[in-house]
Amino acid sequence: MEKILHTTNGVEFTLSHAFLEFSYLLAAVLFIWGLKLLSHPETARKGNFWAAAGMVLAMITTLFLHEDGNGDRIRLMNVVIIIVTIVFGSIIGLVISKKVKMTAMPELVSFFNATGGAASALVGLLEFGNPANESLLVTLLGLIIGSVAFSGSMIAYGKLSGKIGSLHAGILKYVNFVLMFTVVGITAYILLLPDPQSIPMLVYILFGIALLYGITFVMPIGGADMPVVISLLNSLTGIAAAMAGFIYHNLAMILGGILVGAAGSILTVLMTKAMNRSLMNVIIGGFGGGSGAVSEEGGTVKEVSLSDAAVLLAYSQKIVVVPGYGLAVAQAQHVTHEFEKVLEAKGVQVKFGIHPVAGRMPGHMNVLLAEADVSYDKLVEMEEINKEMNSTDVVIVIGANDVVNPAANETPGSPIYGMPVINAVEAKNVIVMKRGMGKGYAGIENPLFFKDNTRMLFGNAKDSLQKLVNEINTL
Ligand code: NDP
Repeated sequence: MEKILHTTNGVEFTLSHAFLEFSYLLAAVLFIWGLKLLSHPETARKGNFWAAAGMVLAMITTLFLHEDGNGDRIRLMNVVIIIVTIVFGSIIGLVISKKVKMTAMPELVSFFNATGGAASALVGLLEFGNPANESLLVTLLGLIIGSVAFSGSMIAYGKLSGKIGSLHAGILKYVNFVLMFTVVGITAYILLLPDPQSIPMLVYILFGIALLYGITFVMPIGGADMPVVISLLNSLTGIAAAMAGFIYHNLAMILGGILVGAAGSILTVLMTKAMNRSLMNVIIGGFGGGSGAVSEEGGTVKEVSLSDAAVLLAYSQKIVVVPGYGLAVAQAQHVTHEFEKVLEAKGVQVKFGIHPVAGRMPGHMNVLLAEADVSYDKLVEMEEINKEMNSTDVVIVIGANDVVNPAANETPGSPIYGMPVINAVEAKNVIVMKRGMGKGYAGIENPLFFKDNTRMLFGNAKDSLQKLVNEINTL
C-alpha cells in the first residue's frame, strides 16, 4: 500500500500520483517549448523533438502510473497490447515519412491529421457505453468533432494529392445545413433521454452523419480556400483530442489537444485574413473551386532566352524572387540559393517575396528555403514586399501562379477576386519560370503571363535555374 500524501474531497493522493501529475506538467512545458521552437525554421526540428519527448514522457507515465476511479493501474496485458500497437504504428509512420516525396508532404500531413481525428472519434464511440463515463456531452462532442476532422481531412488528402476534384457548392450547401442540424438534433435527443446508453444505435447513426458531414463540408471547397480549411481541420483534431482527454481525466491529453486546437485556430484566423475572407464565407461559400473558373481572353506570351534573362538579372539593382508550388515540385530550393548567391556576388540585392498560401501547406516556402540555408531575413512577407514592387527591377517568379495572379485585384467575378496577391505585375520586369502554360491550384488563367513587362522562361525550374546560374557566372 502506497503512502497517502493527502486527501482532497475524498480523493487520496499518493507519491506515484504526484509523480504522474508532475510528469504531465513537464510534458506540457515541453509541448509549449516545442511550439515556440517550431515557430522558426531554424529551430523547428528541435521543436519537433522536444514536443515529441513530452508526448513520450506522458505516455510512459500514463501507462505505468495512471489509476482508474477504483485506484487500479492499467492491467499488464493491456500495457503490452498498447506498447505493441505503438511500436507497430511508429514503424509504419517511420517508413511512410522516410519514403514520402517532399512534394507529397502536404497530403501526408492531412492524412496524419485524419488519423488523429479518427482516434478521438473512436474514443467517443468506445466510451459512450461505459457506465463510469461522467460526461456524455463531452463524449458526443469528441465523437462528432473527431469524425468531421477524420473524413474532412481524408477528403483534403485526396484533393491535395489530386485524386479528388472539387464539387460545385450548389446543392451541397443545403445538404450541409441539413446534416449540421441533424447532428445537433440527434445530440440533443440523446442527452435528453433518461437512459441514453441503452440505445447505442443512436450513437452509431450520429457517427455516420458526422462522417458524411466532414465529406460534404470539404468537398465543395476549392482552390484558394483550401489552406483555411486545412488549418481549420487541424484545430478540430486538437479540440477532439482535448475532449478525449476530458473523458479520461488525462491532463496531458487535454493540454496537448488544447494547444493544437488553439494553434490551429490562430492559423485559421491568420489564413482567413491573408485570403481576405471570413471563416463563414469559406465554410458556406465553397468558393474558388475549379469549376467556377473564368477564362481570360488570353493573348500572346513573350519568351525570354537564357542569355537575355541572365544579362537582365546580372545588371539589375534589385530582384525579388517569388517562389511557389512549382519550386517544391522541382525541388529547386538549393539551386535557388545558389542563384541568389551568384547574383549577390554581382552586387544585386536579392529578396524573397513570400505569399502566406504559396505551395500546398502553411509555411511551405519558408520550410523549403530554410532547408537550403536561405537567410531568414531575406524572406519578406507579402504586405511588405508589395510596398517595394515599384522599385524592383525584376521579379522572378519560380513555379508560382495563383499567388501572383493580378485577376485577384483586377477581375471581379474571378474565383480568386479579393484574395491578396504579390503584385509582381507592378515591377519593371517580370520573368516567370514554369514548364508550360499549366494552371495553378485554383485552375484559372493568369493574366500576368500576357502583360507587356512579363517574359516566360519555360522549363523545369531546377534545370532553368541551374542554366541561369551558369550563364550569370560567365558574365
Ligand atoms: P500554383 O499551384 O498556383 O502554381 C504552381 C505552378 O507551378 C503551376 O502553374 C505549374 O505550371 C508550375 N510548376 C509545376 N511544376 C513545376 C516545375 N517542376 N518547374 C517549374 N514550374 C512548375 O502555386 P502557388 O504557390 O502560386 O499557389 C498555391 C495555390 O495552392 C493557391 O491557390 C493556394 O490557395 C493553394 N493551396 C495552398 C495551400 C497552402 O496551405 N499553402 C493548401 C492547399 C491549396 P506548369 O505546369 O506550367 O509548370
